[in-house]
Amino acid sequence: MSVTATKTIGDAAVHVVGAGLAGSECAWQLARRGVPVVLHEMRPERSTPAHSGGDMAELVCSNSLRSDDPLHAAGLLKREMEVFGSLVIDSARETRVPAGGALAVDRRLFAAEVTRRVESHPLVEVSRREVTQLPEGDVVLATGPLTSDALAEVLLGLLGEDYLYFYDAIAPIVDGESLDMDVLFAASRYGKGGGADYLNAPFTEEQYLAFHQELVSAEVAELKSFEKKLFFEGCLPIEEIARRGVDTPRFGCMKPVGLRAPDGRRPWAVVQLRQEDLAKSHYNLVGFQSRLKWGEQKRVFRMIPGLEKAKFERMGQIHRNTFINAPTHLDRRYRIRECPRIRLAGQITGVEGYLESAATGLAVALYLALERRLSEAGAGEALPPTTAVGALARHLTESSPENFQPANINYGLFGELGGRVRKQHRRAAYADRARCDLLGWADRNGFEPEKELDPVSEAEAIRSRQREMERAREEALDPRTAERAGA
Ligand SMILES: Cc1cc2nc3c(=O)[nH]c(=O)nc-3n(C[C@H](O)[C@H](O)[C@H](O)COP(=O)(O)OP(=O)(O)OC[C@H]3O[C@@H](n4cnc5c(N)ncnc54)[C@H](O)[C@@H]3O)c2cc1C
Repeated sequence: MSVTATKTIGDAAVHVVGAGLAGSECAWQLARRGVPVVLHEMRPERSTPAHSGGDMAELVCSNSLRSDDPLHAAGLLKREMEVFGSLVIDSARETRVPAGGALAVDRRLFAAEVTRRVESHPLVEVSRREVTQLPEGDVVLATGPLTSDALAEVLLGLLGEDYLYFYDAIAPIVDGESLDMDVLFAASRYGKGGGADYLNAPFTEEQYLAFHQELVSAEVAELKSFEKKLFFEGCLPIEEIARRGVDTPRFGCMKPVGLRAPDGRRPWAVVQLRQEDLAKSHYNLVGFQSRLKWGEQKRVFRMIPGLEKAKFERMGQIHRNTFINAPTHLDRRYRIRECPRIRLAGQITGVEGYLESAATGLAVALYLALERRLSEAGAGEALPPTTAVGALARHLTESSPENFQPANINYGLFGELGGRVRKQHRRAAYADRARCDLLGWADRNGFEPEKELDPVSEAEAIRSRQREMERAREEALDPRTAERAGA
């Protein structure tokens, strides 16, 4: 049985607080399953240190939702979300920009599309005000890593302990017209996606060493004295990475592998620039999150070949990123143990990333819709930990509370594979098991799949298309073929 009908389930609205990645997805999923929603958002009246506009689901840093490879854990998570008609993934596909194997978007169009869809749903009432007290009834707090101070205090009172936190950094954006296209070259690593989706700034060894030297010695913005220096490993500022060793960036975001400059040689290192919009008017420096002082960023980043005259539209920044100790406080359905009518979704739960935040919003909505349908709190089984969406909750609830750290989706969070599976077949085995278990769960709980889920066949189809393209390219380069064609 499908539960996507427009018939209302129960009169009492669910209060979703925060219209970011998680809150927008949650509100949308609830509404389309017949559950009325009041979606509270404080922007644009009151903003956060990282947001700049009033639209929902604003991407505050990178414009990428990570890999779209069906066998990559992030690609699998997207496909699982699409089974339930995800707002975030659908809007991302509609507003995507070329980005090799990643799903990246025009951030302005993406946020506008999410906002348009949510605002036009008849079961969603949008309230543009800061929430400073917990509303009555069912509440989903999706206020993100930059939850307003007043609400953070309320949550602190409820949980009775300090938040955990780490620091997150934003990468700079440059104006496309200010770039030197005689120096930069267009290419994707290993020719993925369109084959030329990124601009690449090539370094010689000498240029790289000079750049590294300036990067590690440039002045950083001070953290407040009570703030610990604690960065999320997956999002380290570039200067912190550089401090770990002269070659560390060359093995990370500046790695030259899979790239050839127009002269056919592999550069010593590269900086990749990913387009921000379809018009290619702006580009972000991939992996160049930074907490250098702004003047220092301009000075050092203009040493990147091709960026000598770069006009910076946004500078790299660093922000505190708040999350709770989920293993202590959350159950598998994202309910706060101390007060189960309050649920958390998004980054504040301790998942990391746009995609993962949206996925938790989706999961919370499925549970709430099920409860309303079955008229029973906590009804139905939790999503299996062998699926990507269930693996996130497993990380949140089964990690050690002493060492809890936020995580992106990765196969390490999934339940172990049974039996011996060869390394090269492992990703397919995880994805296939996830497909069976997710579809089984959906069927048992009355959710009709809205899109096919078959990551293994999809990956095979992509590979075979790539092989065909490669063959066609090789044939076009082969002089004997050209001769045969009468060229
Ligand atoms: C500086 C920074 C950079 C990041 N960079 C990346 C990145 O490059 N890639 C990535 O995948 N992830 C990144 N993240 C992590 C994270 O994925 C994003 O922050 C993501 O937006 C989290 O989604 P969310 O829905 O939980 O929160 P958000 O998208 O932040 O949404 C929360 C919403 O709640 C609203 N709000 C807050 N308090 C209240 C209140 N009291 N009343 C009403 N509304 C309220 C906010 O205005 C906001 O709209 C970054 C985080 C930070 C802080």
